[in-house]
Amino acid sequence: MDSRPKFWPFIREMLKFDRNRELQQTVSREAIRLVEPRRHVDFLSDVGQFLTSDQISFDEDDRLGHAYGRSFRDVQRLRAGKIDFAPDAVLLPAAHEQVEKIVSAAGKHKVILIPFGGGTNIVGALEPKHADGRMVVSLDLRRMQRLLKLDEHSQIASFEAGVFGPELERLLEERGFALGHEPDSFEFSTLGGWIATRSCGTQSNIYGGIEDMVVSLRVVTPLGTIETKPAPAASNGPDLNRLMCGSEGMFGVITQASLRVHRTPECLDYRIVLFKNFAAGYEALYDCLLHDALPDVVRYSDEMETRLIFAAKHGSHGLKAWFDKPIKAYLKWAGFSAPCVLLVGFEGPAARTLRLRNAALRILKRHGGFDTGQGPGRQWRKSRFDVPWLRDYMMDYGVIGDSMETAAVWSNVRPLYESVRAELSDAIQSVTGYAGYVGCHLSHLYKTGACIYFTIAARGRENDGPLELLGYYEKIKARGTEAIMRGGGVLSHHHAVGYEHRPWLPRELSPAALAALRAVKSRLDPENIMNPTAFLVEEAEADLRSR
Ligand SMILES: Cc1cc2nc3c(=O)[nH]c(=O)nc-3n(C[C@H](O)[C@H](O)[C@H](O)COP(=O)(O)OP(=O)(O)OC[C@H]3O[C@@H](n4cnc5c(N)ncnc54)[C@H](O)[C@@H]3O)c2cc1C
Repeated sequence: MDSRPKFWPFIREMLKFDRNRELQQTVSREAIRLVEPRRHVDFLSDVGQFLTSDQISFDEDDRLGHAYGRSFRDVQRLRAGKIDFAPDAVLLPAAHEQVEKIVSAAGKHKVILIPFGGGTNIVGALEPKHADGRMVVSLDLRRMQRLLKLDEHSQIASFEAGVFGPELERLLEERGFALGHEPDSFEFSTLGGWIATRSCGTQSNIYGGIEDMVVSLRVVTPLGTIETKPAPAASNGPDLNRLMCGSEGMFGVITQASLRVHRTPECLDYRIVLFKNFAAGYEALYDCLLHDALPDVVRYSDEMETRLIFAAKHGSHGLKAWFDKPIKAYLKWAGFSAPCVLLVGFEGPAARTLRLRNAALRILKRHGGFDTGQGPGRQWRKSRFDVPWLRDYMMDYGVIGDSMETAAVWSNVRPLYESVRAELSDAIQSVTGYAGYVGCHLSHLYKTGACIYFTIAARGRENDGPLELLGYYEKIKARGTEAIMRGGGVLSHHHAVGYEHRPWLPRELSPAALAALRAVKSRLDPENIMNPTAFLVEEAEADLRSR
């Protein structure tokens, strides 16, 4: 944190913390004891026929490391030593055929399987709520990271699903290609996890979300393996690739995927443009859309989030600090006293990229945008994956920090932004008794609408422990989600459903829609062994009633 000297003072000031606030105590690893794992002897004997001993782990650290994802709720429970669940064992298959045999043995013995990628989901998607006394196995795909085939002519790459973001891009880059799917969790999340949560990366304006990149899949279900054919398009009934995107491990295990890739971009141009207020930048972006000049990457922060971004900047020293001063003074003089940061990115073949960049910048400037050039854009690219983890740093000081996202059609983007922001501010104040921080950005822009992404920070009372803070958080999150649903936004644009959004699913999907998904689940997985409490089970309605 030394490199971001203004960050903690900003949060401390915003949340009115004592200047000398100390690090909050968390439970030590030694204090956590898991219950003895259940061992289904016949299942273990079956998988022992083809897995080596280093592919089956009952180790406590392994089990703990596969217990939770990275949501505020998950991390806070870990910090408090509140382990509601840990899998009984972790299995590490090394090939598609091994996954097939594991799923078959699990079906035979009614053992629960939870596919595990990087464990970065933030919706509680890894934890079975109703294991009914059955053995629960975390199926970790980290040994399945190979590039299986690159069809350069068709620009299609086939990977095993356990590959992590950096390794996937490295393997492609060696051959002059790229995928261009970079969620903020890129370093620690996997291809299988991206598909199973239907995730969305920074460059989605140009390359689409993961569902747009999937050309074909191999998915091991308890009923058998579903394999789709690589094809540019097909009219063979409903799209099975899409059915698997967002399936959160409950239909089967995605073992392989073929993806649309592209040549390594010849030109990258990322920059920051400042606007005097949120409305001005919003109008500018909408104008870009109307004129077919939408940047390939857009992240447009409102005034509050911009303040947080400036506070989280690395400190500048020497010559850079000397240059920064007159720029700041100029901006203030020119009326940018509470500016909004718009990050724009352009990438691809040089001629196309420069043409798009020039067209977009012309429009942005016409709406009063101040182009700060590529320097800040490069800086953003360098540290972009670090920023979301500042939440965990804040948690060290007892801060409730989280993000919530939705999407809306253009006619509803501004109203929904206003109403959810107001509701979150009010919820923080009334639940905790203190004012908090609510910031927002628009990203992932479409012809018909955009993703709206909120970030919150709040505090509790002086002596509140992690579980009290978690209680406040759950109330705030519920009020925010209610506001999203009331305002006509989608339950989630890219974070998925999991345990945390599940109670609202019956309001998002009609009874017939839910029944259709349940029918698919029960036909593919009659013994309900695949991630059984991911979002389709009947308890969702009961959950909603009980909150
Ligand atoms: C700091 C941070 C930033 C983030 N930023 C983004 C972002 O920009 N965009 C975004 O979309 N998300 C983001 N996320 C959320 C998260 O990273 C994504 O949901 C990601 O896709 C999860 O991938 P994973 O490999 O970690 O999956 P896991 O967390 O391991 O699993 C998620 C779900 O997918 C299932 N699953 C995993 N692998 C498979 C498989 N092979 N077959 C079947 N099911 C499987 C699991 O059972 C579980 O239900 C962020 C999370 C964090 C912590």
